[in-house]
Amino acid sequence: MPSNASLIEPKAMSSVSYTLYYGTFIHTPSLGDLEICFNTLVGVTAAGDIDFIHKNYRPEEHDYQTAVQFFINNRKNRHFDYVDYSQDPTKFFMPGFIDTHIHASQFPNIGIGLDCPLLDWLNDYTFPLENKFTDSNDEKLKFAKNVYSKVIQKTLTNGTTCASYFTTIDPHTTNLFAELLLEIGQRGFVGKVCMDHNDTYHDYEESFEDCVDSMNKIIERMAQLNPAEETLVKPIITPRFAPVCSRKMLKWLGKLSVTQDLPIQTHISENKKEIELVHDMFPDCEDYATVYDKHNLLNSQTILAHAIHLTKKERKMIREKKCSISHCPTSNTFISSGEAPIKQYLYNDKINVSLGTDVSGGFDSSILGIIKHCILVSHHLAMKTGRQGDKLTIIDAIYMATQGGAKAVGMPDKLGSFELGKKFDVQLIDLDSKESNVDTFEWQLPTQHEGDHKKRTKKMEDLLGKWIFSGDDRNCVKVWCNGRLVINKMHYSRDDRWVMVEKDF
Ligand SMILES: [Zn+2]
Repeated sequence: MPSNASLIEPKAMSSVSYTLYYGTFIHTPSLGDLEICFNTLVGVTAAGDIDFIHKNYRPEEHDYQTAVQFFINNRKNRHFDYVDYSQDPTKFFMPGFIDTHIHASQFPNIGIGLDCPLLDWLNDYTFPLENKFTDSNDEKLKFAKNVYSKVIQKTLTNGTTCASYFTTIDPHTTNLFAELLLEIGQRGFVGKVCMDHNDTYHDYEESFEDCVDSMNKIIERMAQLNPAEETLVKPIITPRFAPVCSRKMLKWLGKLSVTQDLPIQTHISENKKEIELVHDMFPDCEDYATVYDKHNLLNSQTILAHAIHLTKKERKMIREKKCSISHCPTSNTFISSGEAPIKQYLYNDKINVSLGTDVSGGFDSSILGIIKHCILVSHHLAMKTGRQGDKLTIIDAIYMATQGGAKAVGMPDKLGSFELGKKFDVQLIDLDSKESNVDTFEWQLPTQHEGDHKKRTKKMEDLLGKWIFSGDDRNCVKVWCNGRLVINKMHYSRDDRWVMVEKDF
């Protein structure tokens, strides 16, 4: 395991030139707002920042200059790389996905434990696996490196450019995880799990003093690792959930969040038995949210995972404290926890909601998969309640997966959409990629020559539906983090004909 920060060369800090991208850019800059921008120029600096955007370029409006000539004349810059997909209607740029709730250490348990209720599932599957990361020998580092490399690679290849992770109680392998994020090229919030009593599985717990010591080790190490002026890896304070944390620990973590200016993540109201347990353990607190609030753990940097069975009063508190919810529909279905009324949270309660895979309660490490599932779960909820208004749209789901996620991780001005000053954390979607599961037909494609902008936009919206419901990682052909290409599946592909990389125009 590398022990010196200077040995790590962050992939998302590698040397790159200014790059001009030209093509179709699709994003949801605000809730309910889908913007499809054809023939759009996006300029990205060598630091990975977007510093130029020109949407819907039409040569006839600019003396018939080509898009590149227009950029050169506008910026007086002739030295840049150029990537052009504007002529290919099956390709478009999307903001990278942000997964706001994922347990890196549980990755090997994906697909295991169907329909086992939360508290049994933790004892039978989760705690024994997480405990393997605490063995006091070199084997644990090998074990951790194997698991952690795979989960980062898998999520990145599915277009997740940023994620908020839970690791385990172990500080050494948690620091190793942060190093791997940098090496592989994914932005990550790293949460060492804090839990100082575990009444049902005593082998897996830490003392309060161990927790303090471990948190200090992690904060110190990540301060060394993270490149100056960047947010590539950052610790996130992670009390696992109230039933396994002492009041003393919760209080200390709340204070630590303030003194170190660190974000917080935890679980809330996932399962009815869990809520009863919290009520029994904290009889002086009116509800689950109050337990966290009493210990200063609810603020605008808090991510609350699941939040299925919230009371009206809890929703009000979560809104007032400006916390975000991480909605995990796949996990909530797999372990039968329930259907969270997300449409109501978003539009009535005005709570920020993002999406989480919740590996391995959730079996799908792809946020595209979670987009599918959140829409389907909301349809089931609507059938149950009879309220059509409970149904989530494709636009809602994309928003939660991108800009909602950016807000949740405290980077709304840096990630989640295409805006000046934001980081180029982006995925290129190709519906016509090799062995794609998506079939498109010529009359469905929004070509340049469509003429009618409205018609072209409608066709693109239909293609988004095809991508979401029948697409997968094969359609995510390139991924950039911090302006650096970190995944490229287009090597040796016929599709490379669409890429022009030129210098010194
Ligand atoms: Zn979880």
